[in-house]
Amino acid sequence: MRRISIFGSTGSIGQSTIDLIRRDREAYDVVALTGGGNIDLLAKDAIELGAKVAVTAYEDRLADLKAALAGSGVQAAAGEHALIEAADREADWIMSAIVGSAGLAPGLHALRHGTTLALANKESLVTAGPLLMQSARSHGARVLPVDSEHSAVFQGLVGEDQSEVERVIITASGGPFRDWSHEQLKGATLAQACKHPSWDMGQRITIDSASMFNKSLEIIETREYFGFAPEQIEVLVHPGSYVHALVGFRDGALMAHLGAPDMRHAIGYALHWPERRDLPVARLDLAKVGQLRFEAPDEIRFPALRLAREVMELGGLAGAVFNAAKEAALDLFIAQKIGFLDMAQLVEQVLTQMSAGGMLKVTALSLDNVLAADKEARARVLALKAA
Ligand code: NAD
Ligand code: MG
Repeated sequence: MRRISIFGSTGSIGQSTIDLIRRDREAYDVVALTGGGNIDLLAKDAIELGAKVAVTAYEDRLADLKAALAGSGVQAAAGEHALIEAADREADWIMSAIVGSAGLAPGLHALRHGTTLALANKESLVTAGPLLMQSARSHGARVLPVDSEHSAVFQGLVGEDQSEVERVIITASGGPFRDWSHEQLKGATLAQACKHPSWDMGQRITIDSASMFNKSLEIIETREYFGFAPEQIEVLVHPGSYVHALVGFRDGALMAHLGAPDMRHAIGYALHWPERRDLPVARLDLAKVGQLRFEAPDEIRFPALRLAREVMELGGLAGAVFNAAKEAALDLFIAQKIGFLDMAQLVEQVLTQMSAGGMLKVTALSLDNVLAADKEARARVLALKAA
């Protein structure tokens, strides 16, 4: 039996992971499940899967979790320290599917035990890629990508020599505002930004897809995970979301990865790697799809893409600042306190401020300096909003 834990089990990726586990219950020994405020779902899954421990990120929900788990034999725990303790419990495979930079510390802890980390939490690569990957290397742990594009690139590289790769193209659906004008984008509402044309995901990443911040995080994720140079990484808008990524080689060949837009493919690939197993995803009927459409991305209407390039250029703590400022701006947009385009503007302002103040430079990334930069960037977004 493989011992597994799922961080962020109550979310979109967490639930898709549980769906796969549930279909093959006998193969897995569930160690820990973690969630946020959805106590009922967390407790229900923990009881059904016989988890050793269920953890809510919120200390003030411990009593509720205890009540929901009463008599089940599943231990209840709460708070950031409990998340770390859960990451320290021995497991063979851990799904990192907390949303935001809150996923960084548990993931780093898991890697210290040499555990295989299936990484959906792209924010940890954006904020602290060199730290995370170095930690994996020094502890003999493996990080497996669970973003659809990155899983696709990973699969495209099987059996290849990475030094022969000329370029990597990650696709973007373009989101609900793909063909909106600047004027229309200005007035984009929360409800409109929450409607993704091809993927069913958590609210935050859905809005990030509408603003293309998701793709900008993924450009950086590609750089940090695979080590490609920024100029080798391209974005291609592909509204159908059938082609997830393409790897281009020195001889001009492009290897594309196609599949239905269903995260259970990338999750299942990471779960069964290095083998392939049957997965319950729809099979593409390309005759029915008919045509595959591609467009160049527009960095003027979607400045997040341009900002990703600047972040890679700046290095140091720029990724941590970029991600945290984005998270804080997204909070404000969700609270309907700022407009859609204000998000990129606030993020750019904070990056400029902190870069001019020499605050992005460090000799090496550590959890402490990354979390301090994260906190500072969030505070600056709020200060700019208040000004
Ligand atoms: P979601 O919002 O549906 O779920 C997030 C999970 O994290 C929930 O379990 C929630 O309780 C937990 N959580 C939230 N805040 C927390 C905190 N401060 N501390 C601890 N736990 C917290 O998100 P999702 O769509 O499942 O995305 C999860 C991660 O996977 C994100 O990093 C996202 O970018 C990435 N991802 C998601 C998809 C997708 O299809 N949903 C695709 C690719 C990558
Ligand atoms: Mg993706």
